[in-house]
Amino acid sequence: MTPAHFEDLRSQLSFPDSLVFRVTSEYEKYFSDATTYSGKPAAILFARVKEDVQAAVKFCQKNKIPLVPRGAGTGLSGGCVASSDSLLLSTELINHIIVNKPTATAIVGPGAITKTLQDEAAKVGLTYPPDPASFRESTLGGNVAEGAGGLRCRRFGVTKDYVLGLEAVLADGSLLRTGVLGNGSGFGLEDLLQASEGTLGIITEIAFRLIPIPTRGATILVAFDHPTKAAQTVADITAQGIIPTVLEFLDGDAAACSNEYEKNEGLDDAAAILLLETAGQDTTKEIVQIREICERNRCNYLRGETDPERAESLWNVRRNLSKAIKASAAIRISEDVAVPNTQFPVLVDFVAKMNLASPLRINAFGHAGDGNLHVNFLSSSGSETDKELIEQGILTLMKKTVELGGTLTGEHGIGLAKRAYLPLEFDPATLRAMRGIKQVFDPFNILNPGKLLPK
Ligand SMILES: Cc1cc2nc3c(=O)[nH]c(=O)nc-3n(C[C@H](O)[C@H](O)[C@H](O)COP(=O)(O)OP(=O)(O)OC[C@H]3O[C@@H](n4cnc5c(N)ncnc54)[C@H](O)[C@@H]3O)c2cc1C
Repeated sequence: MTPAHFEDLRSQLSFPDSLVFRVTSEYEKYFSDATTYSGKPAAILFARVKEDVQAAVKFCQKNKIPLVPRGAGTGLSGGCVASSDSLLLSTELINHIIVNKPTATAIVGPGAITKTLQDEAAKVGLTYPPDPASFRESTLGGNVAEGAGGLRCRRFGVTKDYVLGLEAVLADGSLLRTGVLGNGSGFGLEDLLQASEGTLGIITEIAFRLIPIPTRGATILVAFDHPTKAAQTVADITAQGIIPTVLEFLDGDAAACSNEYEKNEGLDDAAAILLLETAGQDTTKEIVQIREICERNRCNYLRGETDPERAESLWNVRRNLSKAIKASAAIRISEDVAVPNTQFPVLVDFVAKMNLASPLRINAFGHAGDGNLHVNFLSSSGSETDKELIEQGILTLMKKTVELGGTLTGEHGIGLAKRAYLPLEFDPATLRAMRGIKQVFDPFNILNPGKLLPK
């Protein structure tokens, strides 16, 4: 992008000052997401209105400049990391939230923060249940673009279960309105745009379904002396038809990191932890069933709390986990594979054995109720040898996941991190169909090029 290009784009914007061409270190946080990928874009546009998004897309199309959309940059697959020839388009300032109580819906800008929507909905007795652990920072546009999941998603569903319609700017600058924001019939284009990681369009407005605030049940913390016993408990709870609101798994090393970060009761010798929350007012029967299953799998610690304040103290185990694990090593690469519930114990056992056989530290935690396991490859030295071992470990993990009928990403997306592994999961016909869709939506490969699809 030359200064002439820059002036051309600026002249077309409703808010010319929202374009930053001198991308100094002041903007460093925009060079990366929550992974180790980084890149300094040629310019950054902090769009405030959709008309400026349209102008930017048309400009990039005309000049064949890559355009990379970005929300809060909490992504875990490098999706919003821009190359040096790119225009980085931040949608964080398009953040309106309009909650409609009678229809139990909300119309939001893509830059609205997930928790802010929950807070606004709560004012009228409603809620937006999807809750990625990053919900205090992540944007709803980023959630939709990644197909985000979260802690309560086993019971209440993931982001895509709440999207009623989308507005997006297409690669030629035109505006697409789908679902309740446009026409409900025809192709379900809002489904296609979800989890497309900014490669098919730039989301400028979202219509969400809301639900009445559910009653919180009991919070239960359970510890085991082996990770497979905890994983088997997860499979047994699911097989018995119990659907807790939260069912989180942490192996011993992950639990130790959490305990190191913030001292938690009952974690000192745990080889694995389950954190559960039941749903509804009267969950006595459910609690008894859960206790029986835990005892059958020989748990060695179980504590349940219904008092909200005391329950909060149990939540500390999970709350800072990602930060705690990151702080425990020089390099942390996190992979979010997912498998069918019946295979969860097999995967957990496999990861435990990988850890024993590897010079690296490999730990795991995740939204177990969804079969989701976040496997962390940790190096204390950050050496080149360790980096190679991490690459090999990731490939081994991916192959095993696919063999178990699972998926390479439960919720964090493909981005840069996993595109090379896609052929492990998808056959050539599926990959051809995906490339065909990209070609129709973005014939000149302007929108977030180099992400999601393999080379
Ligand atoms: C501590 C921590 C915990 C996390 N926990 C979870 C979890 O429990 N569940 C989960 O699913 N994820 C989790 N994540 C990952 C991350 O928070 C989610 O992927 C989130 O949805 C990203 O939102 P964002 O606004 O930060 O998007 P970004 O990181 O800015 O972008 C993510 C992708 O969306 C695209 N994008 C952003 N905005 C738009 C737009 N307006 N239009 C089109 N494309 C767009 C970007 O190009 C990129 O490909 C966690 C991350 C962290 C750091």
